[in-house]
Amino acid sequence: MNIEYCYRCSLCNINCPVFRVFRTETSGARFKAFMIAESKLNKWAYLTTDCGRCAIDCPAGVDLEFTKIKERLVNAGFETEANKKMIAQLREKGFLF
Ligand code: SF4
Repeated sequence: MNIEYCYRCSLCNINCPVFRVFRTETSGARFKAFMIAESKLNKWAYLTTDCGRCAIDCPAGVDLEFTKIKERLVNAGFETEANKKMIAQLREKGFLF
């Protein structure tokens, strides 16, 4: 993940599809990079599309690896109401729909 190379430039926000919709600091990849660096994992990490655009745009080569972060959240018991059913379905049947 090499989060230690993040220098908070916010270039990862420019093409972030979530940031483009919500236009708030907490919706963008830079905020998430900061929270990861501070080891503050929480439900905010679900607010991503896993598109990987932030990794492409980062001049420092930081890859936030949201899929792995979400996996850690699920294993730690952080599930939102919105995704509880989806996760239960995945666990039980192995597919989403
Ligand atoms: S993750 Fe990369 S693009 Fe985003 S704030 Fe950090 S250094 Fe900048």
